This record gives sequence, structure tokens and C-alpha cells, in this order.
Amino acid sequence: MRIARFDNNRIGVVQNNGIQDVTGALEQLPAHRYPFPRQDALIANLEILENATTVRVVPLSRVELLSPVANPGKIMAAPVNYKKHLEEALADKGIHHGNLVNEIHKAGIFLKATSSVVGPGEGVTLVHTDRRNDHEVELAVVIGKEGRDIAAANALEFVAGYCIGLDMTIRGTEDRSFRKSPDSYTVLGPWLVTADEIPDPGALEVSISVNGTERQRANTRELILSVPELIAWASSFYTLHPGDVLLTGTPQGVGPVRPGDMMVASIERIGEMRVGVS
Ligand code: MN
Repeated sequence: MRIARFDNNRIGVVQNNGIQDVTGALEQLPAHRYPFPRQDALIANLEILENATTVRVVPLSRVELLSPVANPGKIMAAPVNYKKHLEEALADKGIHHGNLVNEIHKAGIFLKATSSVVGPGEGVTLVHTDRRNDHEVELAVVIGKEGRDIAAANALEFVAGYCIGLDMTIRGTEDRSFRKSPDSYTVLGPWLVTADEIPDPGALEVSISVNGTERQRANTRELILSVPELIAWASSFYTLHPGDVLLTGTPQGVGPVRPGDMMVASIERIGEMRVGVS
């Protein structure tokens, strides 16, 4: 199932003929009172969409796509998780700025502010345009079930689904979490593809073009730490909750974007998303 959030917080199931609006199903979400659980309510209860009533079908071209995860509890992100990107980062002072670019085993997983999340229809609004702002296209994993100390062998059972992620980045000397957390610097979309449709997240072609020129292309089989290994490692440090997002790292070819640019990112079996830069 492909689940989209669009326009004014509508929820839809994406089909070939458009988006089936099933927003009414949200009425079945359990009511919570303060303090709210550390999870995304819809991702924790995706089964409510299975027999949902469609009130109308909307053409995809007419909707503004929002992030399929409305309230992620945390955004985890893998630094330099492709060997060729590590080589590129070490060779380019414009990328590493004297920061020690370690292999992921030494660097660990970092966190991005949840307030940085937008959908493709909202676009990226750059801040500090005097500095280099780069695109990083990544496979984004959405956690579906609470877990701690998850074994890599069972890790995919904890995945709700996948979407395309853009880990937008200001290059510079500050801590990663600061440079990657401005509003709109995490783009998730175009929709969530549930895990049953992607049995092997380690064999997906990933690419991005800017203004029609391809910048990055790789396959997730080239990841240094695989999706199950990342889930196992992350969950050995903290509990994972439904709606938590794991950005798996970007391949070689990162490069700058400027206001007015149009990025088109795609991942095999998920789809394609157009993201404007302003
Ligand atoms: Mn990244």
C-alpha cells in the first residue's frame, strides 16, 4: 500500500488513477490525552486504512504532497554510509571543512530536529544562502513497531515502510545536527510504501537530478551498514517508536542547490518526487 498525506492533512491511498481519499479512517485512531505517546498515531495504527472507505479519487497532479509521517518522534540519520561518498568527502574540503569524516562505525548515528520535516509539495527553503547548501538523497525507513535491542535478523519486522528522504545540509564546521536541522531540511515523500511491497531494502536504485542533470545515482546494496544493521545499532542505544524515521545515508555525488532549482529524486519501488528550492 502507498499512503500519502496531502493538502490540508488529507490521508490517501495512492493508486494508478490517483489518490483515494480515506481521511475518514482517521476517526478510528485511539484518543489520547496529555502526555501523548512518543509515536506517530497513524503509523502506529496503519491497519485502520485497510478497509477504509474512499470518499473521492483525486488526481496526483492536483495535490500538494506532505510528509507521509506527520509526527516523527525522532529523525535518525547515518553519516557517510556509502564508501564512494566517504572517498568524495575526504577529497573535497568544501564538504568536510576540516571535520574529521569518519567511517560510520566511528561517527555513530546522528539526530535531526523533527521540526525540519516537510513533504515534497512544500519544498525546501534555504537559509544562509551565502554558504554551500547540498542535496543528499537517501532511502528513508519508517519504523512501525516499538523496539529496543533489536537483532539485525529480525529488524525488518519493525519497519512500517519506506519513502524517499532528502537530508539537506549546510556545509560548514558546526555539528551535523545543527547544519541539517533548519525548517524544511528533511524532505520525506512522495508517500509511504508499506514494507510488504519492498521485501529487500538492500537492492534499490536511488537517484536525484537537479534542473534535469543527474547528480547522484547508486544502489542500496552499496550501503556500508545495511538497513537491518542500522536498526539493530540504533536500537542498541535507544528505543525505536512507530513513526521514527531512519535516513540511511547518501551516496556519492552530493552537490549544491540554489533558490529556483528543481530537484527530482527517485527510488526504485517507491517512486519519484519533485522538490522545489526557494
Ligand atoms: Mn545524509
